[in-house]
Amino acid sequence: MSILGAIEAGGTKFVCGIGTNDGKVLDRISFPTTTPEETIGRVFDYFDGKDIAALGVGSFGPIDPKKNSPTYGYVTSTPKPHWGHYNFLGALQERISVPIGFDTDVNVAALGEWTWGAAQGYDSCMYITVGTGIGAGIIVEGRLLHGLSHPEMGHILVRRHPDDKYEGKCPYHRDCLEGVAAGPAIEQRWGKKGFELGLDHPAWEMEADYLAQALMNSILMLSPEIIVMGGGVMKQEQMFPLIHTKVQHLLNGYVHHAAILERIDQYIVPPKLGDNAGLCGGLALARQTLLEQ
Ligand code: ADP
Ligand code: ZN
Repeated sequence: MSILGAIEAGGTKFVCGIGTNDGKVLDRISFPTTTPEETIGRVFDYFDGKDIAALGVGSFGPIDPKKNSPTYGYVTSTPKPHWGHYNFLGALQERISVPIGFDTDVNVAALGEWTWGAAQGYDSCMYITVGTGIGAGIIVEGRLLHGLSHPEMGHILVRRHPDDKYEGKCPYHRDCLEGVAAGPAIEQRWGKKGFELGLDHPAWEMEADYLAQALMNSILMLSPEIIVMGGGVMKQEQMFPLIHTKVQHLLNGYVHHAAILERIDQYIVPPKLGDNAGLCGGLALARQTLLEQ
């Protein structure tokens, strides 16, 4: 069995690993994201001599994931110093001469959950992460959705919660979904980090309200067969039942499907791959890239 490589390229840290083509992570290493040159150097050090057959990369963004584009594989307009308009995939290909799959971190996480996790067996799914930012990866009829570049679901508009006086944190849109519901917005609104707020703090009802609106919009636009919700903020598991009830309430019977009306607890679910989600997704992308060669 061939060994595959995976990179979870985050804005604050990189995780590199190797694993099997049935999703078992065999080894991993993590280091801080500094300049592209230094960070890529550590990536090369890690993969040197590992004899991988293919590599899957899930990158922070925005990136260009369109294979037919002249800037395919670039990190594009990120405010992160040194990384703007950086040819990430090109730099990897100079030293790692195996097929490399490259996509957004959330698309790769979606692919992992779809291949081996909570969304296994479905033709379509949406994976949404609620963490430092909010983003979603979407699989439609077995393929990751890219479109113009890639979905930026974190920045959709939501109706303000009637009790919310917080102005919103998004530098582009102020009170878009990410601006009111990502981890840093929770922290700034309530003056404490999410995990320091009690389970019955009003923050969670408000948070569930915003997330339920986002899910309602996604269900109406994409009709995914299952929705997986991950990221640091979703460790607040008490939000799942709140979100279930609110999505049902918002849709108000309009989408007449048993998944929503009768078994929504199996429709909007936590991830199954846990702490290895990013790496498993990378392995899934590496496997897919190898199969497509
Ligand atoms: P990232 O989005 O940077 O990849 P995470 O998904 O871990 O990383 O998200 C980090 C955010 O999630 C932070 O804003 C943090 O405060 C929040 N967070 C982490 N753990 C919890 C928790 N148990 N409860 C609520 N919020 C949390
Ligand atoms: Zn925004």
